[in-house]
Amino acid sequence: MPPYAELIGDPVAHSKSPDIHLFWLEALGIHGDYGRRRVEKGGLASYFAERLADPDWQGCNVTAPLKEAVLGHLDTLSAEALAVGAVNLVRNMSGKLVGDNKDRAGIAEAIPPELVEGKSILLLGAGGAASAAMLHLLRSRAAEVRLAARSLEKAQKVAAYAGGALPIRIVPMTDLGAFAGADGLVNATPLGMAHAPMPAELIQAVARLAPGAFVFDMVYAPLETHLLKEARRSGHFAIDGLSMLVGQADPSFQAFFGRTPPRSRDAELRRELERR
Ligand code: NAP
Repeated sequence: MPPYAELIGDPVAHSKSPDIHLFWLEALGIHGDYGRRRVEKGGLASYFAERLADPDWQGCNVTAPLKEAVLGHLDTLSAEALAVGAVNLVRNMSGKLVGDNKDRAGIAEAIPPELVEGKSILLLGAGGAASAAMLHLLRSRAAEVRLAARSLEKAQKVAAYAGGALPIRIVPMTDLGAFAGADGLVNATPLGMAHAPMPAELIQAVARLAPGAFVFDMVYAPLETHLLKEARRSGHFAIDGLSMLVGQADPSFQAFFGRTPPRSRDAELRRELERR
């Protein structure tokens, strides 16, 4: 086998990560591969044991619902993985499993600091991606975060990643008042995917955001979610999940294959991804 990496999670069939890595491998003429493997939480120990026995395996990206579950299977964690309490990249470093998190790097491509600094941001969700977003909002000097989640306990955990350095108001997902006057909305839940439609009242509440607000939807399957459609209709700045996906794939590719991906071909890559 050539050197290879893959995406693990459950489900993984919808993911465009393999398309991104395969595009870059081909563009650079690298003899390598990137696949996908459905792994359940209970199957993680046997998955890693099997892969560690294969010297061609460079590591894996990790998606829901495994980002926190993998923590207990790894030898070392990067500072970034520790800072957000979740892993989306595992590297095989001479038989040692090293966990890292590149979601924040992806979020920074989607909503760069200049969109966030001094702004009031509404963040939906309290999982691994929301933790990475919280860290980005903190480092980009947001003025305030309204954190909407269905679990108060998980929301408090996500808020703790900001270490008290950022004003955070935790609200239930049903509190539509949290939309009023916010300068940006980040959806870090699966709401909007085919199996989990976003409730109509949340979509309609987009009209309550401040004029010119951005709406960033991490969901990328479908790419044009109902939330983004409503954002465009309301005159807001809509940002889809592909920029984050490509942004987190970039450092992962470098970790697996030791080369910088050809980002000058991003427009061509996006057209390919939109076609799939
Ligand atoms: P996760 O750790 O499983 O967290 C999902 C969060 O969404 C949790 O807070 C969960 O609530 C909440 N949630 C799930 N279903 C909900 C519902 N019906 N109503 C309200 N809240 C609900 O997943 P993650 O890694 O943070 O990823 C979240 C989503 O972001 C993914 O589904 C994916 O679409 C997207 N994502 C995109 C990229 C990208 O590159 N574009 C990267 C990472 C993630 P509970 O805590 O109560 O379960």
